[in-house]
Amino acid sequence: MKQQVMNIQLDRLMQTIQQSAEIGMLPNGGICRLSLTDEDKKMRDLFLQWMKDCGLETRIDDFGNMYGRRKGKNNELAPVLIGSHLDTQPKGGRYDGVLGVLGALEVIRTLNDLGVETERPIEIVNFTNEEGARFQPAMLGSGAMAEIFNKQTILNTKDQKGLVFGEELERIGFRGLKENRQQGPFCFVELHIEQGPVLEDKGRSIGVVTGIQGMSWLEATITGRTSHTGTTPMNRRKDAVLHASKLISKIYSFAEEIPELLVAIGRIQASPNVINTVADQVVFSIDIRHPEDHVRERFEQQLKEYLSTTTLVEEMELQIKELDKIDTDSFSEEMIKVMENAAEKHGFSNMRMLSGAGHDAKYLNRITPTAMLFIPSINGLSHCEEEFSEAADIEKGVQVLFDTVLTLANKETL
Ligand SMILES: [Zn+2]
Repeated sequence: MKQQVMNIQLDRLMQTIQQSAEIGMLPNGGICRLSLTDEDKKMRDLFLQWMKDCGLETRIDDFGNMYGRRKGKNNELAPVLIGSHLDTQPKGGRYDGVLGVLGALEVIRTLNDLGVETERPIEIVNFTNEEGARFQPAMLGSGAMAEIFNKQTILNTKDQKGLVFGEELERIGFRGLKENRQQGPFCFVELHIEQGPVLEDKGRSIGVVTGIQGMSWLEATITGRTSHTGTTPMNRRKDAVLHASKLISKIYSFAEEIPELLVAIGRIQASPNVINTVADQVVFSIDIRHPEDHVRERFEQQLKEYLSTTTLVEEMELQIKELDKIDTDSFSEEMIKVMENAAEKHGFSNMRMLSGAGHDAKYLNRITPTAMLFIPSINGLSHCEEEFSEAADIEKGVQVLFDTVLTLANKETL
């Protein structure tokens, strides 16, 4: 079996991750570090110091995204950008996002230890508000940097308490300048925990991510008539919940017929939502995902046809609305090969896979060649305090990130 010396220092990395985990730590070892809170500020201050300690040139852009630049031999060349996010869910784990940022920091520390000079500069990044837990939309910092979102809309976004994104950014001292945005990276690499069970089930250490799975969101509205639950015979009712429940179980059974298709009715609203009144309206969402866009689209089409031809009882109505549709984002094949070679070089078991979840890499992929690496999540758990990854896998993931970045930073073209 091929075996090579590890360049990165696992102890140092785990210690750095532990220091991060202590900011906003929850009783069971998870983290609550919502974007632009005092905890986020504390983490940002520490990360800024760590970047400076490595000799990186630091800067903050107008959305609070933080960058640290390590010079190359030729500083006219576009930099290799690596990173992820340091904010968490209200009950988040210690590795989601954090691994991608602090793993990137470990890559820089290792390059410094080894005295390696690369052709291109390398920049590490912490994107603001990836989670979308406090401010929506999610992946806000990376999306704004890639100019997917309108700047003013983003700055005016409010959290549940009515606090404004732009003001909170100002308050914690991280509202920087537009000219500090990274606008033309050579490429972007993000290391992340898988947040699902595939790598663990297949016994692989490294997931080479080929893209981010697409999705379709529909909304169905069934309208009937309210009536008294005690006085209206069943055959005289126009009960929206009754019909919604029949349709929903049909949707799930259709989905079961198609391998790898994921469907969820995640949101249901009945009105007037009163115990002794037959509901006159039910609105429910339908979330559809599949690795192949054409399979997802065919299912969506069939579903719409079925729903539009379904006969409800007289005077009842069914309407279907398309809420959103995003095709699969495919990552750079060239970079996928670089990552596979890095994993193979060390004899680390690996496989190609799609990401089921959205990540900062999704928006970066719109402006530059992009790639992602996954490491296994124990029991596939994520967005919970139990979220965990083994140190041995963390070491392998960051080592592959190191080799990948080293190759890319000396590459002329992609
Ligand atoms: Zn994440």
